[in-house]
Amino acid sequence: MVRRVYLDNNATTPVLPEVLEAMRPYFGEHFGNASSIHRHGQETRAAVDRARESVAALLSCPASEVVFTSGGTEADNLAIFGVASPGDHIVTSTIEHHAVLNSCRHLEAHGCEITYVPVDSCGLVDPGDVKRALRSNTSLITIMLANNETGAVQSVEEIGKIAAEAGVYFHTDAVQAAGKIRVDVNKIGCDLLTISGHKFHGPQGVGALYVRKGTQLEPMLFGGRHERSRRAGTENVPGIVGLGKAAELAQTGFERGDDQAMSTGRGRLERELLKIEATGLNGEGAPRVPNTTNIYFDGIEGEALVIALDLKGLAVSTGAACSSGAIEPSHVLTAMGLRPDRAKASIRFSLGKQNSAEDIEFALATVPATVSRLRELSPVYRNLVSK
Ligand SMILES: *Cc1c(COP(=O)(O)O)cnc(C)c1O
Repeated sequence: MVRRVYLDNNATTPVLPEVLEAMRPYFGEHFGNASSIHRHGQETRAAVDRARESVAALLSCPASEVVFTSGGTEADNLAIFGVASPGDHIVTSTIEHHAVLNSCRHLEAHGCEITYVPVDSCGLVDPGDVKRALRSNTSLITIMLANNETGAVQSVEEIGKIAAEAGVYFHTDAVQAAGKIRVDVNKIGCDLLTISGHKFHGPQGVGALYVRKGTQLEPMLFGGRHERSRRAGTENVPGIVGLGKAAELAQTGFERGDDQAMSTGRGRLERELLKIEATGLNGEGAPRVPNTTNIYFDGIEGEALVIALDLKGLAVSTGAACSSGAIEPSHVLTAMGLRPDRAKASIRFSLGKQNSAEDIEFALATVPATVSRLRELSPVYRNLVSK
């Protein structure tokens, strides 16, 4: 059997065994509707409340400010559509996840004005650009915390101050930050913050939006009075329990130094891969989450390298999972000023808590040889090096 190593944890992470164990009873004996008043309902209501406390502890907020959703995409949509009205102006960036970008584009087609602030070559937004973009009708700034393709961490605390001074709501997509760096909504100074279970070893299909008390947020889903009337619909109890457990484990992980371990593995991977000729680190110089590295291999078609590595048992990606199969180069890398061919020659390696030092050695035994083989076949590369 071929060994399989998974280094695509920014696309999704494996559910930790403890998370699965915590969820299991809620598919079976604890099946109640959390809104029912009998014992079955009380059991699941208590489980949802406990999970809300765990998520709140991870974000350093009161439990009453956590709204469970069906994932990061829904939380991003709820933040943006919940705050913006026709005629409003919104400030976002060119490197956001599509859950934010396409929500903004939709609003742009329906009477909102959007400013997409640029990033520099490291993939960082200049908070000064955010400030200068503000107008009298700006209602929302939405800038992500950590980028899913490069791992670059934005100066969200500075942006939070700018938003507070201007009296504008600030939303940050923290999906790629949760569980990797400490996230504190008061330090950030945000009004709205998104997380997603499956990006930090919880289940797929569940996430949460932090909503600061007093934020005027219109719901997107109407029905019962679930989630304090902010998100109607019977709760996904097993998913919510799993998200809560993942939040707890993320918290204890920081105390144990899981982030440090990922950073060590990433450091070794990166140092060794950058010894291959005609490679480079995308986003060099930016502060980054500890698990992500994005490297270009000039003269190579990223998709071809992903497929060749998969045949050898190594799972990596060319960027956002949601846009894989797209022929377009990454919008994040092109926004950083990469040439389209270099953007297409870029590969994201993203570590998770399950990865061992042996996994990194496996990658190092696999990637350089595969890159050489593909380059031998590549007329583009031969032209590049002969120049
Ligand atoms: C994965 C991801 C999302 C979407 O979350 P889902 O739970 O998959 O809908 C949003 N933002 C970022 C930065 C992501 O990486």
